[in-house]
Amino acid sequence: MLENYFKLLSRDGLHGRDSKKRSMMRFRFSLFEALSILVLLSSVAVARPAVSIQQTDRVVVRGRVVCLNEQGKPLTGDCPDLPSAFGLKSNDGKLYRFLTEDTATAIFTDARVRARELQITAVTRSQDRLEIIKIQSVKEGKLYDLYYFCEVCNIITYEPGLCMCCREETEFRETPVPEP
Ligand SMILES: [Zn+2]
Repeated sequence: MLENYFKLLSRDGLHGRDSKKRSMMRFRFSLFEALSILVLLSSVAVARPAVSIQQTDRVVVRGRVVCLNEQGKPLTGDCPDLPSAFGLKSNDGKLYRFLTEDTATAIFTDARVRARELQITAVTRSQDRLEIIKIQSVKEGKLYDLYYFCEVCNIITYEPGLCMCCREETEFRETPVPEP
């Protein structure tokens, strides 16, 4: 294709005619160039999306879980068993909302978890929406992992309630995160 293009160019150059066709070819060539650059740029962008997400959108927030009503406003007093959504009131007073479809929020139905100061590692989905990566508690400046354990099945789960395997009650555990 390129060979033909150069043949055309030199032929037109020699005879000095058919300039319409020539400019058409030139246009097509520059379009081809632009497309190649686009493809190159997008392949660079595709090569490292995970890094850019982590660098720009990852946040670590400390605060306490609040239950939200249908309008996304924090409820005062007790949380119902199944609130419309959960949020996080950060220690500096900012309100974040968790995605309702985020299964990691199941642990917030446990009043023991809501009673603790938490450290949430998350990805921001819009200015105040958080998608959870990790939930930890904070006690006297130290971090703890929160989970439920079934001794019978030796299974760890992050959802309160019965063990998915043997249907026995799981045990709530809070273990200190090893110091680096
Ligand atoms: Zn079990």
